[in-house]
Amino acid sequence: MTIPLTPVLSSLPMTHSTDLNETLFERAKRVIPGGVNSPVRAFRAVGGTPRFVKRAQGAYFWDANDQRYIDYIGSWGPMILGHGHPAVVEAVQKAVLEGFSFGAPTEREIELAEEIIKFVPSMEMVRLVSSGTEAGMSAIRLARGATGRSKIIKFEGCYHGHADALLVKAGSGLATFGNPTSAGVPAEVVQHTLVLEYNNIQQLEEAFALHGKEVACLMIEPIAGNMNFVRASVPFMQRCRELCSQHGALLVFDEVMTGFRVALGSAQSVYAKDIPGFKPDITVLGKVIGGGMPLAAFGGPRALMEQMAPLGPVYQAGTLSGNPVATACGLATLREISKPGFFDALSSKTRSLVDGLKAAAAAEGVPFSADCQGGMFGFFLMPELPQNYATVMKTDSARFNTLFHGLLDRGVYIAPALYEAGFVSVAHSADDIAQTVAAAREVFKLLRS
Ligand SMILES: *Cc1c(COP(=O)(O)O)cnc(C)c1O
Repeated sequence: MTIPLTPVLSSLPMTHSTDLNETLFERAKRVIPGGVNSPVRAFRAVGGTPRFVKRAQGAYFWDANDQRYIDYIGSWGPMILGHGHPAVVEAVQKAVLEGFSFGAPTEREIELAEEIIKFVPSMEMVRLVSSGTEAGMSAIRLARGATGRSKIIKFEGCYHGHADALLVKAGSGLATFGNPTSAGVPAEVVQHTLVLEYNNIQQLEEAFALHGKEVACLMIEPIAGNMNFVRASVPFMQRCRELCSQHGALLVFDEVMTGFRVALGSAQSVYAKDIPGFKPDITVLGKVIGGGMPLAAFGGPRALMEQMAPLGPVYQAGTLSGNPVATACGLATLREISKPGFFDALSSKTRSLVDGLKAAAAAEGVPFSADCQGGMFGFFLMPELPQNYATVMKTDSARFNTLFHGLLDRGVYIAPALYEAGFVSVAHSADDIAQTVAAAREVFKLLRS
């Protein structure tokens, strides 16, 4: 007589004679560089085989082996309602039947622009584009066109898409401009980009003292989500605003990640609570406003936005800009997240995850810090929250990788790199969060120092 095997819990990894993710990865690598269409998906930072996603619903996705994961990436931010929200699916299905793309204007583009402006009042006009990269690149062109200046300031650890002028790291000092971080970017293209340390007020003041009159714009992620999760301090943000105004430079908020994610009014509304009257000059949006479809935007005051073609001299265009299916998806998403109580519910879910992880790490004696805002969070295997990129990069990557794979093996999918933020959706249940915290506690035991 055979003894029945204990049933495998859904949160435990299934054993397969063939790993279908591995099979797909091998096949992908033959026709796609590195097997992926965006580098971080390749798991190179953490090692192992990327999970190929078959389908997703609510807070979960399933990989090629039909293994379920609690998803804390949510397509890197857009899926704030969880996957397959019925109102969004319905809006997209209806839009698809009406046509995929026209190359002529539609009413839905107006509706989406109106909806964005309603919640982010620093934007009086918006231009819709198809990716955050495109929006950031266009915002810089607008800033340069409107000011007649060439130089831009960015901060180490902030990502604004992969436009040439933004793929740059700090030069040897404040008097020098940046060095390209990618092959294929000529040094001349980044010679106008000055890279400063995030949250460093003194360096910011020195940079404006030296170059202020030549600066077209200062571009910043107000809550940086591309070096894990690092907030710009209120005094630092206030100084950014003052120095830009004093020197006639534009303050560009890259809210591609934080927009409609950290609050309905985006990160700028969070800073406006501490800095009366605070607003940026240009805002760049993406991710959530497309609800998972390729859609992004940039906008600002009317007089500035009227510098854009066809009204003004700053050229910018896009075959698929304001795509009717993408706008339907984005609009349905914004309508759900603007319902009363949405952000309170989302914030308390995120907060309970962060508090649970902190308590689990403390119980196991693992140095840990974490922070969150709205539906975005970050954590570090270090006792204090870092304030800049250099400190983030001091995180022990071997320990992070143990945590990453430990969670993955237990059915919890977090970003496969320690310098990425995490995302909670409204579809994550208290039970999903409790399971995540329990899984993390098991892994923290392995990390006890
Ligand atoms: C994701 C992101 C971008 C780039 O957006 P894409 O749609 O990937 O081109 C730009 N800025 C920030 C802050 C982002 O998080």
